[in-house]
Amino acid sequence: MAPGTATTSVPTRAGRPAPAEAPVPAPAPTPAPTPVTASYEPRFDCGRTCLDLLATAHPAEQLRSPDRLRAWIAGAGVVPPGTPLTAADASWLVRFHELRGCVGLLVRRDPVPEARPYEIALGRVNEFARAVTPAPRAVRTDEGALVRVLEGPPDCAALLAVVARDAVELLTDPVAWAGLRQCAGDNCPIVYVDTSRGRRRRWCSSETCGNRERVARHRRRAAALART
Ligand SMILES: [Zn+2]
Repeated sequence: MAPGTATTSVPTRAGRPAPAEAPVPAPAPTPAPTPVTASYEPRFDCGRTCLDLLATAHPAEQLRSPDRLRAWIAGAGVVPPGTPLTAADASWLVRFHELRGCVGLLVRRDPVPEARPYEIALGRVNEFARAVTPAPRAVRTDEGALVRVLEGPPDCAALLAVVARDAVELLTDPVAWAGLRQCAGDNCPIVYVDTSRGRRRRWCSSETCGNRERVARHRRRAAALART
């Protein structure tokens, strides 16, 4: 799959100037939706750190190098900004991929509790969560503000524990669990916590899956109009 972004083109309204002397103004056409852009960059909008980790497998593998993993750990706020993660290597990738697979098994639509894969995943997440998480400190900057730093460079187990504990909280919090949704987009596996008013959020993102649906609707309307 090509890196960067995948763009689906949509019909545009370009090249249709209004008649110079139209006696009656034509009704304003429905604006065409903007093109669908599926970002291959990590996203941090799933409502939970563990779900943001899960999202890194879609639409293509995003955690494919230690550098990418470092960027994700920082972007997800697992560590304070600027925390050195120089120890991250391929073994970290393997372990984060494993935790991600376990989270996926536990939160996907219709998980089967007590089934063997579910139980194994639950056991692994609990093991990941057992490790000691990085100790934070508040230190003063040159300007006098307090900022959060870690006691020392975190190891992989400590960072996995941060994400695994988030998963444990999600699994055991009835309110958050009731808001868990899988995106209604075609073949979109993104799972998020719906915190919208009325809990009517249908899409992982209105810019991607929501817009894709609007584009499809626009095309169906245009096709129906062309037939009449
Ligand atoms: Zn989606």
